[in-house]
Amino acid sequence: MIVLVLNCGSSSIKYQLLEMKDETLIAKGLVERIGMEGSVITHEKTGHIKIVKEVPMKDHKDGIKHVMDALLAPDGGLKSLKDIDAIGHRVVHAGEKYSNSILISDTVVAALEECIDLAPLHNPPNLDGIQACKELMPGVPMVGVFDTAFHQTMRPESYLYAIPYKYYEKYGIRKYGFHGTSHKYMAIEAAEMLNIDVNDLKLITCHLGNGASVSAIKHGRSVDTSMGFTPLEGLVMGTRCGDLDPSIVSLIGEKEGITEGEVTSILNKESGVLGISGISSDFRDLEAAMKEGNRRAELALNIFARKVRFYIGAYIAEMNGVDAIVFTGGIGENDTYMRELICKNMGNLGIKLDPYKNNVRSKMVILSTDDSPVKIMMIPSNEELVIARETNEIVKHSRLL
Ligand code: AMP
Repeated sequence: MIVLVLNCGSSSIKYQLLEMKDETLIAKGLVERIGMEGSVITHEKTGHIKIVKEVPMKDHKDGIKHVMDALLAPDGGLKSLKDIDAIGHRVVHAGEKYSNSILISDTVVAALEECIDLAPLHNPPNLDGIQACKELMPGVPMVGVFDTAFHQTMRPESYLYAIPYKYYEKYGIRKYGFHGTSHKYMAIEAAEMLNIDVNDLKLITCHLGNGASVSAIKHGRSVDTSMGFTPLEGLVMGTRCGDLDPSIVSLIGEKEGITEGEVTSILNKESGVLGISGISSDFRDLEAAMKEGNRRAELALNIFARKVRFYIGAYIAEMNGVDAIVFTGGIGENDTYMRELICKNMGNLGIKLDPYKNNVRSKMVILSTDDSPVKIMMIPSNEELVIARETNEIVKHSRLL
C-alpha cells in the first residue's frame, strides 16, 4: 500500500510518500509560506537531489495541488495519483472524542470542527488539508492521527485541574497532552530495542524540540504528560514559558497595560529559553553564547535541564520506578551537552549516562553505562512513519469489514 502522509500547519504542509510493504520512503517535501508572498515547495525523491520551486499558493488546496504536481513530475516518485492508496493526516486536537486514529468520515470532520475552540491555531489548517484532499482525490480513504489520542489513557487524577469541576463539564478544561504520536513511537521502538514486551515496561519519554514534553508510559499506556490543556504547560521550551503561577498573567497585563490575549502571546512566543536568555530559542546559539561567558544563556540552559529532571523525578514517583528514559526531538537527538546536563546527579535514582556513548547524534542507541539500572536511550523521532503505519492498518482493516 502507498500512503501519503500530510501534516498541515497554519502556513505549511510537510509530506511524505511511503511504500508500506517495506516501509520505504519514496519521497518527501515541505510547502512553506502558504497565503504569503514567496510561497515555496521543496521536494525530494529518495536518492535524488532536492528540487526547490517558488510558486504562488493562496491556500492549502493550492499547496496540495503543488504537492501532487511535484510527486507526478519525472523525478517525483509517483506515476499516477491512482497509485496513492490512502492518506494519513496529522491532526492536533481530538479532545476527548478519539483515543485512537480513525477513518475520516463526515461525522469525524464534524467532531474535529467541534474541537476548534481547543486548538484554534492548529485544527483549522488540519481540517483545510482534509477538505482539500477530499476535493482533489475523491474516494481515497483518509485517516486522522491525533496528537492528543495517545494520552487519553490518563486517569482523572492526572488530567483534572483543581478548578471548579463545572469548567471541565462545561468547557472541557482538562489536561489533554500533545506529541502523542512521538511518545507512542518512542515507547514501541524502545520496547523493541530492549527486547522486552512494552506491557512489562515503565518508560519516561522526553520529546525535546522547539516544543517539548515528557510522558510517563506504564505498560504501553500514557499515565501522565507534561503538556496540558494547551501545549503551553509543562517544560520550559524554546519560546514557551511552561508551568507558571496563573496570577502572573493578570499582573503582567495590568502593569504593562496589555490585554490577556497579548500576555498569552508573550508566554507563547517571547518566553522560554528565549525569554530568559534574551538571545535565542535555539540551543546551538545558547551554548555558543554560554561558552563566550554569557551568564543568562547558561541560566536558560540550566533552567531547561532542571525542569526536565523535575518531571523525570515526578514520573519515577508516579510509576514507582522507571526502566528506561528515552530522548527524541531536535534537542533530544542532537544536543550532547543538554542530555548530559539533564542526566547529571541522578546516579542515586539509578540513572547513569555514559559520556562516551553520549557523544552521538540522531541514532537509535543506548546511552547509559553498562551498569546503569535505568537505561538511557535515544530514538530519533519519525512521526510520519507512525502516521503511515496507523493509516495502513486502519485502511487494511476497513477493507476486510
Ligand atoms: P525540533 O522542534 O524538534 O525540530 O527541534 C528544533 C530545535 O532543536 C532547535 O531550535 C535547536 O534548539 C535544537 N537543535 C537542533 N540541532 C541542534 C544541535 N546540533 N545542537 C543543539 N541543539 C540543536
